Amino acid sequence: MLQKDCQSHVILFGGTFDPPHVGHLSMATLALEQSGADEVWFVPAWVPPHKDSTAVDYDVRVNMVKTLVADNENFVVSSVERDLPEPSYTVDTVQTFQHKKPNTYFEFLIGSDSLAALSTWERAAQLTQAIDFLVAVRQGFPFHETYAAARRELPHLRARALEMPILDVSSTWLRDRTEQGLSLCGLVPERVLEVWRRTQLSRKGETAGDDT
Ligand code: ATP
Repeated sequence: MLQKDCQSHVILFGGTFDPPHVGHLSMATLALEQSGADEVWFVPAWVPPHKDSTAVDYDVRVNMVKTLVADNENFVVSSVERDLPEPSYTVDTVQTFQHKKPNTYFEFLIGSDSLAALSTWERAAQLTQAIDFLVAVRQGFPFHETYAAARRELPHLRARALEMPILDVSSTWLRDRTEQGLSLCGLVPERVLEVWRRTQLSRKGETAGDDT
């Protein structure tokens, strides 16, 4: 639903995307369809190098997401977090977009596991006053219970559920499968896997170079 006085409607989709997968793509597709939004903007999270919580570099993750969404003109990839002060908190990212595009109605797309943890996010109360949430349900985090619990901590929170079958796929599981040499066929599009593989090969090359 487009809010009064807004000329366009954009869904922000933040994540680590390490790697992006079929769960992310399904969420974005269904969110666009069910909300009537004009676009979904994927916003890969900038993770400062000293945190070391992300195996793959920011530029590679941005590249993988761009490759993931290449066929859909309503999907946009933003690397805004590269230019924000570190650490780039979601509340700052959202307010940056709202400041840049005052006539756009923004919503934020997350999984229900993230909804359960929302109260721990930096300035969560401020974030929930700034933006509404669209929620894709994940295994173990049913929407109504998770929303009710989150609202006890964050009374301004406004969220609605996406109609989406539970897709029990996560980047962590995919990274584990890769380490075990198992296939990611159907879980990550082949063209995204190619970007990922190229990175792994160049890393192996660097490591081999280090040894000599
Ligand atoms: P990781 O396993 O590394 O934590 P992830 O698969 O959860 O990664 P993220 O990039 O961290 O992927 O996710 C971005 C957002 O998308 C988060 O809000 C997360 O809850 C949500 N999300 C990711 N995968 C799914 C899925 N299969 N179903 C519903 N929500 C999802």
